[in-house]
Amino acid sequence: MAYAYDDQNIFAKILRGEIPNSTVAESEHTLAFLDISPQAPVHILVIPKGQYVTADHFAAEASPEEITDFWKTFAQIVSDQGVGDGGNGYRMISNSGSDGVQDVPHFHLHILAGRRLGPMLQRV
Ligand code: 5GP
Repeated sequence: MAYAYDDQNIFAKILRGEIPNSTVAESEHTLAFLDISPQAPVHILVIPKGQYVTADHFAAEASPEEITDFWKTFAQIVSDQGVGDGGNGYRMISNSGSDGVQDVPHFHLHILAGRRLGPMLQRV
């Protein structure tokens, strides 16, 4: 089944400059910005500029250049925030689809840090 990308999603609008964002990092294929509703002192979203719906879509169909650029940008942000090697750590989350409770259907990583984040999942 082909991945159907909705170009009216909020991150597509951010990428087109129709909605403002607080940019943390930008490269040829990747944009990172502050989450509008932070769940931790550091809450950064990292997105590819290309039209990918989920992590698996990106992994399956993005070019090697896009994939490398995305992960190098991620590494640079973690380093800039001082939460990686030698720091207090962070949590990286990517929600996909309905069971994953993905609200915005454009692939994104959440980088959460700056406090002890507690258990990975809540029992529901
Ligand atoms: P998801 O539930 O899809 O994994 O996460 C979507 C995230 O996007 C949420 O954490 C939400 O706060 C964030 N978000 C939703 N709309 C906007 C927006 O207009 N600007 C920014 N910066 N973040 C947004």
